[in-house]
Amino acid sequence: MNIKITKTTNPKPIPADDSTLGFGRVFSDHMFVMNYKKGEGWYDPRIVPFDDIALSPAAMVLHYSQTIFEGLKAYRKPDGNIQLFRPEENFKRMNLSGSRMVIPEIPEDVALAGLKELLKLDKDWIPHSDGASLYIRPFVFASDPFVGVRPGEEYIFMIITSPSGPYYATGLNPVGIYVEESFVRAVRGGPGYTKTGGNYAASLAGQVEAQKQGLAQVLWLDGIERKYIEEVGAMNIFFVIGDEVITPELQGSILEGITRKSVIELCRKWGLKVTERKISIDEIADTYKSGALKECFGTGTAAVISPVGLLKWGDLSMEINNNKIGDVSKRLYDTLTGIQYGKITDDMNWVREL
Ligand SMILES: *Cc1c(COP(=O)(O)O)cnc(C)c1O
Repeated sequence: MNIKITKTTNPKPIPADDSTLGFGRVFSDHMFVMNYKKGEGWYDPRIVPFDDIALSPAAMVLHYSQTIFEGLKAYRKPDGNIQLFRPEENFKRMNLSGSRMVIPEIPEDVALAGLKELLKLDKDWIPHSDGASLYIRPFVFASDPFVGVRPGEEYIFMIITSPSGPYYATGLNPVGIYVEESFVRAVRGGPGYTKTGGNYAASLAGQVEAQKQGLAQVLWLDGIERKYIEEVGAMNIFFVIGDEVITPELQGSILEGITRKSVIELCRKWGLKVTERKISIDEIADTYKSGALKECFGTGTAAVISPVGLLKWGDLSMEINNNKIGDVSKRLYDTLTGIQYGKITDDMNWVREL
């Protein structure tokens, strides 16, 4: 498929100071778009100026949330070249999400080629400073005007990009997390393993509750027994107990993070014992009381590694590693960001230079 490019005639000024960017608020000059029609398949891949889009008020996504998304980043290397981290994994996962949400398969090669063209065109929007990057948001939604529950017959696939400042403006500080006991995020058999809008809409009530308590994020428990740990808002979760690295096993309700997968692969390469299994909040409280709980951290594209310094479960406030970043967390953060920013050799074959 040939990608048609229409350049903006009205380029926006590129923010000069990366520290004022924040996350997800500023958008670059162009976007990638492709359409789908039942019987025709995907057609008209193109890059156009970033702009508002017109949709019918009856567009199906607005009523029944048939939509999926992805999130990845473009990094600027010290030599100025641009690279992506395991981008094929994102488009593969997007199609996995799509198969659950009955969204037609996206040609992964076209999506990746479109993304690369878009990045070449908006190269100057990729921030220069340490820890800053260009956040990339691919997404698909049902666009046909129809009020009634059935799979859409028309879809729009888009990629927009957003220059983002360093996630940790004041260094890699541990966060406080709230264990949610009344709301659940996902159940087995549901779409918990997909990146679909509804999962996040359903998580907001818990997030608001966490923030009321002055904590950054929610730790979700399983929807059936309400005791096994699942994951955090948009991060997977890991514990270091004794010498072992433990993360909840995937059984359909947890999103399989690419950072999670990379952390498991790195830890195993370093000779650490990594176990994916069910782990209950009671067990975490027991290991905390016995002194065996060494570290806890979240993993995700946005923050990479987010050390957890406080875990609040009911009346129990567990302060982990004296609210300081632990050795395993630090080593993972330094290695992953080192590879992503091209500062250390990528012997895992994870990065793709433009
Ligand atoms: C995106 C996401 C993650 C992390 O996935 P990465 O591929 O590592 O960015 C974890 N949990 C949820 C719910 C997510 O949406």
